[in-house]
Amino acid sequence: MSVLDNKVVSGVVEVGRGLATVAKHLFRPPVTLEYPEVMPDLSDRFHGRLSLLTKSGGEDLCIGCQACARVCPCGDLIQIEMHRDEQKVPVIDRFTIDLGRCIFCGNCTEVCPVDCIKMQDDFELAEYSREALVLDKYALSLSGEESDEYRVRHGLEKHVE
Ligand code: SF4
Ligand code: SF4
Repeated sequence: MSVLDNKVVSGVVEVGRGLATVAKHLFRPPVTLEYPEVMPDLSDRFHGRLSLLTKSGGEDLCIGCQACARVCPCGDLIQIEMHRDEQKVPVIDRFTIDLGRCIFCGNCTEVCPVDCIKMQDDFELAEYSREALVLDKYALSLSGEESDEYRVRHGLEKHVE
């Protein structure tokens, strides 16, 4: 058999192998989704958008301890300013997170002593500017109702007071 014949035979074998692979996958269920029409069913532990849970009545749950800011490996991307009122209750004046610099490691959520800062399963975080990715307390905070829903879903106790 000439060199040319050999090449033709090996070419036909390769084409046959490719077609066999296509045939094998033809009747398998697809592993991809028609996103964004179909959204993925994500795990409860998915590391998405950070948010602040509030008490059941919508009041601040954060006590301003700074633990989340200190444990963050990305420097100063969490900024918190707070004071205490006459009853010594913490009042959060400013709470910002720069999501554009966040690596979604989850460290901040693990150290929070009151289960306030949490990750959602929202991954659609694209914005037109870096500034828009700096979320303030109002953009970060869930309502009391949403916070309770989150707590029920994740087996946490409600903060009714
Ligand atoms: S998830 Fe990690 S990087 Fe992002 S704010 Fe929390 S500690 Fe910092
Ligand atoms: S660790 Fe929790 S309570 Fe402390 S400042 Fe961060 S979010 Fe607030």
